[in-house]
Amino acid sequence: MSEDIFKKVVSHAKEYGFVFPSSEIYDNLGAVYDYGQNGVELKNNLRQYWWKSMVQMNDNIVGLDAAIFMHPKTWKASGHIDGFSDPMIDNKDSKKRYRADNLLEDKITRYQKDGKSLKAEELQLALDQALLDNNLVQLKTLIEQHEIACPISGTRNWTDVRQFNLMFATEMGAMAEDADKVYLRPETAQGIFVNFLNVQKSGRMKIPFGIAQTGKAFRNEIIARQFIMRMREFEQMEMQFFIRPGTQKEWYEHWKNMRMNWHLKLGFGSAKYKFHDHVKLAHYADAAVDIEFDFPFGFKEMEGIHSRTDFDLRNHQELSGKKMQYFDADLDENGKAYGNYIPYVIETSIGLDRLFLATMCAAYNEEEIITPATDSAPEKKDTRVVLNLPPILAPYKVAILPLMKKDGLPEMAKEILKDLKADYNCFYEEKDAIGKRYRRQDAIGTPFCITIDHASLEDQTVTIRYRDSMLQERINVSQIREILGREINWSNLLN
Ligand code: ATP
Repeated sequence: MSEDIFKKVVSHAKEYGFVFPSSEIYDNLGAVYDYGQNGVELKNNLRQYWWKSMVQMNDNIVGLDAAIFMHPKTWKASGHIDGFSDPMIDNKDSKKRYRADNLLEDKITRYQKDGKSLKAEELQLALDQALLDNNLVQLKTLIEQHEIACPISGTRNWTDVRQFNLMFATEMGAMAEDADKVYLRPETAQGIFVNFLNVQKSGRMKIPFGIAQTGKAFRNEIIARQFIMRMREFEQMEMQFFIRPGTQKEWYEHWKNMRMNWHLKLGFGSAKYKFHDHVKLAHYADAAVDIEFDFPFGFKEMEGIHSRTDFDLRNHQELSGKKMQYFDADLDENGKAYGNYIPYVIETSIGLDRLFLATMCAAYNEEEIITPATDSAPEKKDTRVVLNLPPILAPYKVAILPLMKKDGLPEMAKEILKDLKADYNCFYEEKDAIGKRYRRQDAIGTPFCITIDHASLEDQTVTIRYRDSMLQERINVSQIREILGREINWSNLLN
């Protein structure tokens, strides 16, 4: 049932200009997607929500926009060259490649669905342990023991499990002989670490402080699946919060709560979110938790909060030979300055595309509409598809619709459009019956429709229609801005 909904969301996203497969005329490029005319607006708005909540709402967090290309040593220091890999396994018959841990996770989900919860738990424990020990042989054994077959060939003819590095490499420099191998960044965080001192000094930042950044990241995912959930080119929104060593536990808790509240403000209901503590910690972390979202295909990671210790700054200091230290003039309990140290870091890291997908899935609703019978007509049943997006996030805030394409209605509508356009993204449309136009606006989540009819010309009133309740109200033109101002503003989400 919910997988049905997922299919519908994917086709809705395409039909209404939210997300298209990349290079579709050439039969797509695997796990790469393009955002269409409505998708780009929703994505920009989600990014803005994040940015404002980080940079605008916190005096001690500033932004950054680092380049995608970084010095190759960056990735040595960060551990990505040596350790950023996933366990992969091939099926010899179908020649298909899988992530060994994903095959096992899918099996666990299957056990749970079949009510075999003990088996599910046992396998989860064994999987966690194998990942923790980096035991590739054990992963293969588990796949064999649990009789996992390739979904394509149906056979259990597997290769051994091997590690596969996820970084994309390319060459920089025009001449082959001076070309240097560079990587497309697999995370935005390192751009923040290497600029830590630049920002701290030029911004006179005092610990604790944060640096926030949004931007593209690239990972050569072994298998990409579930639409924009796992892509090879995606966008991250990351914030690194620099703190005094020893205070990491309290700041970790602080950011866990802050981030969960940020999600809850979207209004999709607390049942859709849960924390999931990491058992296998990444090479840089001393504590890590995911915020998972209840996607139609189950709870999956949307955001990670990581206590990264001083791992990154320390390694950059070692490899670059440049001091990555901060002088803390504050006094400790003995009245002595804390002095020089390499700060510890709490990171919050969210994928914009996963947030986009979560938002689309949560906002997508199919409603049955019953028009009661009248003396002249029987009861009518109809369905509508509506995106119940928070108004501030909707691609268009208001649709301006002259009832007819004549008698001066378009002229009056265009006057209203001219007045609102600079402040609100407006949709203007003259064609088709009004009911059809309302439905199209519902489908892209436009919270308000303004309809101009013949009476409007006489008394300066218009009809405002509310997306969620479908209520229609007659208001004066002068009230439009008042209503929009009340409903569409960032403080509803940020305060
Ligand atoms: P996963 O376990 O799903 O591979 P991860 O733990 O490797 O994710 P992080 O390295 O913590 O992910 O990255 C932070 C965030 O970036 C994730 O929470 C997710 O929202 C997003 N993200 C990571 N990989 C992808 C991807 N291939 N496509 C889209 N978003 C991604």
